Amino acid sequence: MAQLYFYYSAMNAGKSTALLQSSYNYQERGMRSVVYTAEIDDRFGAGQVSSRIGLSSPASLFNTQTALYTEISSKHQRQPIHCVLIDECQFLTKEQVRELSDVVDELDIPVLCYGLRTDFRGELFSGSEYLLAWADKLVELKTICHCGRKATMVLRLDSEGRPRHEGEQVVIGGNERYVSVCRKHYKQALSSGSLEEVHGVPVRSI
Ligand SMILES: [Zn+2]
Repeated sequence: MAQLYFYYSAMNAGKSTALLQSSYNYQERGMRSVVYTAEIDDRFGAGQVSSRIGLSSPASLFNTQTALYTEISSKHQRQPIHCVLIDECQFLTKEQVRELSDVVDELDIPVLCYGLRTDFRGELFSGSEYLLAWADKLVELKTICHCGRKATMVLRLDSEGRPRHEGEQVVIGGNERYVSVCRKHYKQALSSGSLEEVHGVPVRSI
């Protein structure tokens, strides 16, 4: 039986690398995988998932209007699909998560979703909220804070390096940087107004 998977993490935990590795594993066995990524993420050019270690794959794009079940089902009729992989799945709507669960339940195709659990305010993204609720398997991809603890939170830093916890959930083309930290240092950075002060080291850009 196929299952719906949610691989979640803070930023920079190698989600895209994990996705591309899974996709490759299917292809290596002569199976067809289909990759989607959010239209909002154009860091690497349209219709592509790339990892920072140099792997990449062409990808279909989704936005909030994409009818994922209809699209995947018609691709599947033309040529059987053995696995669907979704990058940036935090941007899925509730309805799209339901459609992906239909891909699993009606078409019997495994769906592997990769994305962030929470935004820089510590709030769940819509896609992550419903994946946490409905996925068969929840898998945490781990990354660490400067202090060595597991990083579970994402800080948004403005152009002067000050942590922000207000504003739009997604900023495109801004000068913000994002840093993954543990919960303790997330709270300390917001209350002191500086991540450098908390860690005593400069923050690397991403
Ligand atoms: Zn920490």
